[in-house]
Amino acid sequence: MFSEFLFCFLVTGKFCNNSMKNLRTIVDGFGISFIERFGYFLNPLVLKIKKENKQLLVFYFHGLFESYKQKDLNHIDPQTNMTVEQFADFIDYFQNHNYTFLLPEDLKSDLEDGPYAMITFDDGYFNNTLAVQMLNKYKVPAVIFISTKNITENKSYWWDIIYKYRTKQGTNIEKIRDEQNFLKKLKYPLIDDYILKNFGKKAFTPWSDIDRPFKSEEITELVKNPNISIGNHTHNHAILINYSKEEIKEELSVSNKVISDLTGSMPVSIAFPNGNYNQQVLEVTEEEGFQYAFSIEPRRNLFPMGDNKLTCLNRYMTNTTNINKFGGFCRMGYTPNTLYDKLILNASFLKKKLKIFS
Ligand SMILES: [Zn+2]
Repeated sequence: MFSEFLFCFLVTGKFCNNSMKNLRTIVDGFGISFIERFGYFLNPLVLKIKKENKQLLVFYFHGLFESYKQKDLNHIDPQTNMTVEQFADFIDYFQNHNYTFLLPEDLKSDLEDGPYAMITFDDGYFNNTLAVQMLNKYKVPAVIFISTKNITENKSYWWDIIYKYRTKQGTNIEKIRDEQNFLKKLKYPLIDDYILKNFGKKAFTPWSDIDRPFKSEEITELVKNPNISIGNHTHNHAILINYSKEEIKEELSVSNKVISDLTGSMPVSIAFPNGNYNQQVLEVTEEEGFQYAFSIEPRRNLFPMGDNKLTCLNRYMTNTTNINKFGGFCRMGYTPNTLYDKLILNASFLKKKLKIFS
């Protein structure tokens, strides 16, 4: 990247746009990695004196793997997925630091001082049953946000289809991510059409227990477990900012109906697919009677939370091979990336210097 930057400068006498972007990426990467290393030593010292009792940390997961070997089968987009062993370490770490795990429903009751944590799973993968064994073992609850059409039709998640087939074709990961990001801007009928045209009807059939969604009857069985709560993740995994008000309403209400038929009760919480929402999405969410909406903004939530009809909660993405490092940052209220962004914003001098690269 440096050579590209230099070459461009020597030939044209100017810094090319692409090279400048690349250099900016390098500078950002260096800054974030510095914070990560520095925080690893500093966070535990600060956390010895820092009070954490007024905070709720919410974490989101997607799938879980039995082992790294299972991950290598490429039956599923590995995105943020962890092994079941790493999941157990995650629970263990927060319990050892006096965190109590809650469900959204528990936030209504008068809570004593925390600290509190919450585990959430998005999409409704059958492989989440691996987590259930751990939740039972540690006596910890979790919310599973399900996209109901995938459940009722045993339909593969579209991002996994792209990943599985493209990996098989030898496409590199950058190109796969570009294709997935392009599809995230579309409504679900167009995504379905795209899959159909590119991979055929059979692509909607899951390959194994690794990539398949829960079946309807498995959800009904699952909610008998007091550690499990089911939340709404729309009917079609709809990225709601792409939809009209009427369409958003439809996505939420159809999914609510399916969940209530399967579980016997209406969900109180929703996780917005891809974390995307806007004012219109929030209005419809409140109108549909939800009490808790989950984004993917990586920040802690502080008590008291106010008495709004709809409470919005931030969540940290959980993808870690080093729970001490990851946990330390979350408990401080940051991730290395958000802390870096904050420092850059606050340091106007540094910001001006870096402007030459953007
Ligand atoms: Zn999702």
